[in-house]
Amino acid sequence: VKGVLFDLDGVLYDVGAAVPGAAEAVAWVRAQGIPHLFVTNTTSRPRAALVERLAGFGIEAAVSDLLTPPAAAAAWLRDRPGPVALFVPDACRGEFDGLELVPDDAESGASYVVVGDLAERWDFATLNRAFRLLHADPGAKLLALGMTRFWNSPDGIALDVAPFVAALEHASGRKAVVLGKPARAFFAAAVGRLGLDPSEVLMIGDDVKTDVGGAQAAGLRGALVRTGKFRESDLRGEIAPDAVFDSVADLPARWSSVESV
Ligand SMILES: [Mg+2]
Repeated sequence: VKGVLFDLDGVLYDVGAAVPGAAEAVAWVRAQGIPHLFVTNTTSRPRAALVERLAGFGIEAAVSDLLTPPAAAAAWLRDRPGPVALFVPDACRGEFDGLELVPDDAESGASYVVVGDLAERWDFATLNRAFRLLHADPGAKLLALGMTRFWNSPDGIALDVAPFVAALEHASGRKAVVLGKPARAFFAAAVGRLGLDPSEVLMIGDDVKTDVGGAQAAGLRGALVRTGKFRESDLRGEIAPDAVFDSVADLPARWSSVESV
């Protein structure tokens, strides 16, 4: 193992506080010259705001060190003509600047329907409008900004983007193009940025399916941390992590054993 991908939420910080030792672990990786990237499905903030958030926790990162589904989706859409309907938080709309968008109340005319984590902004009319856009044009593609099922929100466990994408897939009979974890293409893009082979890269995450299972399916190694959304039952499922850390703070001490996983 020669490179590392860090998940953010639940690994480096959790419910608004830094995970103890996370900043030191990232600083250690940087000091060792280990190629690394921050790979998150968060769509509630643009990359520049995530960089600021990390800095607030003492973690140094540049915008180019972050791979997010909105950034990946916008790059994907820039290679393809056609109007786009966005169902994404306002905070990440800026990533889609320059693309042709349908009006916010359109019920037809979109070639691409992009679905992110709208959280409290989801209601029947909004979800139904996304469905109507797909139904109106059988050629329209559904794009999912990741397929995270749920997350640890400040007021308890909360639905993320995947359940809403699943509803739209079910109703439209169409399969989403996923630009985010756990899609293989998303992990491949991250590994490509590091200039390494997938088997040389360790993904560290708190979601046994999206982070560990997704990484392993894409040929990477996956380490699960016992922070964030981790539950002991995660270790009794079908996915066997290549390593389990009490937290990301264990990485420097465990590196030599992980290197030869
Ligand atoms: Mg996470």
